[in-house]
Parts: sequence; C-alpha cells; structure tokens
Amino acid sequence: MSNDVTPAGPMVMPIVQAGHPVLRQAARTLTVEELLSEGIQQLLVRMQATMRDAPGVGLAATQIGVGLRLAVVEDRPEYVARIGEAERALRERIPVPYHVLCNPVLTVEDPTPVTFLEGCLSVNGWVAEVTRNRGVRVEALDGHGHPVVIQAVGWHARILQHECDHLDGNLYVDKMNTRTLRAT
Ligand code: ZN
Repeated sequence: MSNDVTPAGPMVMPIVQAGHPVLRQAARTLTVEELLSEGIQQLLVRMQATMRDAPGVGLAATQIGVGLRLAVVEDRPEYVARIGEAERALRERIPVPYHVLCNPVLTVEDPTPVTFLEGCLSVNGWVAEVTRNRGVRVEALDGHGHPVVIQAVGWHARILQHECDHLDGNLYVDKMNTRTLRAT
C-alpha cells in the first residue's frame, strides 16, 4: 500500500488492475487536516481527471495505488443520454454531479435486490451481473472536509456501493454471478 502523493506529474494516473495488492487492502481513514492538505487536494484533482479520462462514473483512490478512504463519483448527463430511455428507467439512472467521498460509511436503506451488468476500471475488458441493494445512505466528508449525507437509489446507489467496496478491498467479481461474466 502506498500513501505517497507525488506533487508533480501527469494529471491522468494509471489505473491499477485486479491482481495488484492495493486493491485487496482496506484503505485507511484520513484526518480532516490530511484531506485539506495540498497533496490530497491535488490527488483529488488527479482522481477526477483519471475518472473522466477513462471514462468512468466512479474511482476509488486504491485504483490509482493510494490506500486512502477517498473516492470520486460523477455520472455525466452525456453518459446517461447514451442509454435508451427504457433502460434508464429500469436502472433508475439519472445524472449525478461530481462529488467526493472521504471516509464514507454506507448504510443500506432499501435492501430490494437489483441485478444489472457492472464493470470496473480495475477489471478492464469485463462485465458481469451483480446484485446490489436498491437504496443506500452514505455519510462522508466532502472534498472540503464538510460532513455530507447522500441518499441514493438505483444506479447512483450502485456506484456508491461499488466505490465503498473498493475502500474495503472488495471488487465486484467477489459478488458477481460468475456465469454472467463476459468480455466487453
Ligand atoms: Zn471499480
């Protein structure tokens, strides 16, 4: 696990792939002071740039080799628009503005099981069906160190579960229906 933050270098970071030990370790909590430090603020900028470049709808710090409880989430309107209206409704997928999760604590609010194909930037080239809870609540700090409570259903709730799993060293492949695994 590396907690080092390089102060200079490219904005878009390499995304580590399954097999890298950092993806299997529980990330550590940050203090507010750490979160507000120049190094971590710069890391967040890089995480946002890396997520957008991929492109993806979420990225955990562990995915760029940093074992800290930090994730970024954004489901842009143009991503959502690419999906048909019926599929959007089925997935309950609506655009989610960019937001930061620091030290997130997730609680299931609606345990209704929902199953869809899911992928991960650290399991490049594959997707599989994963059953997740329909609704969750996440308590976290935002990028400025302010406490936030996020209540989400549908696709946003799926993203939050996926990213919080990363911070505990879990990948979707641990929960997938293995017979649905397919190359993209
Ligand atoms: Zn992932």
